Amino acid sequence: MKKVAITTFLIIVLVLNLTACSSKTSEASKPLVYASFYPIYDLTSKIAGDKVVVKNIIPFNVSPHGWEPSAKEMAKITKANAILYLGMTMEEPWINKVKASAPNTQFYEVSKGIEPIKKGNTINPHPWLSPKEALIIIKNINEALQKIDPSNKDYFEKNYQNLKAQLENLDKQYSDELSKARLKTFVVFHSAFAYVARDYELNQESLVGMSDEAEPSPARMSELVDLIKKESIKYVFAESLSAAKPMEAIAQESGATLLKLNTIGTLSQEDIDRKADFLSLMKDNLGKLKKALE
Ligand SMILES: [Zn+2]
Repeated sequence: MKKVAITTFLIIVLVLNLTACSSKTSEASKPLVYASFYPIYDLTSKIAGDKVVVKNIIPFNVSPHGWEPSAKEMAKITKANAILYLGMTMEEPWINKVKASAPNTQFYEVSKGIEPIKKGNTINPHPWLSPKEALIIIKNINEALQKIDPSNKDYFEKNYQNLKAQLENLDKQYSDELSKARLKTFVVFHSAFAYVARDYELNQESLVGMSDEAEPSPARMSELVDLIKKESIKYVFAESLSAAKPMEAIAQESGATLLKLNTIGTLSQEDIDRKADFLSLMKDNLGKLKKALE
């Protein structure tokens, strides 16, 4: 009898020990996934939960346009099991350099299936700002995660369904609220809201084109001032990161009031401080668009 008790005790100790070991190594055994920039990072994190280590490539407070990784950043990124990136030229040309230096990393382009908006041959790379397009992005993210870690397929699927329901609800709010708008035209700095305009039947007028690093032209500035006066537009939009000055000038010239619309291409310090996330920022944007179009 005593012998049985000792054996049982030993087995329990052994099992406990094994469990302790496996929970210690589990963090390191989780897949490491890098997401190219903030919206992809936040949406991937929400589906991945605690089963995957998700890291962000383009730092917060930095515009995703024109960013390039340093040698140190390259060394970190290329260790990933998988990299999720938007595509639609947003991460060109650095993503190709990463692909060339990371032969063992899987790459997933999460804008697959989105109907691109083009100006000439240039693709507008801002689909995430429309809830309709964000729904396609999260579908691709979910599929990617299920391939990266098939053992947690059901877990990802559950998180995906939950996020999908929230985004469908947001899409409905965008449709309902924006279809009631008196005005149809809104004025922004760069053409980041083209997909919102297309999907919810509005008209975006931007000072510069597809990158927030472009220089505004005085001719376009006066064109916008005329348009604002002609259509009695009451509000114009600056962005959180870049170039409030020319939009301030347009507001002053035209008598409109300046508001901020968030391109959600990164998180500003202010966004971080108030614990904003993709969904809360998308809701903020809807509130501001609604106000500007009243
Ligand atoms: Zn942009």
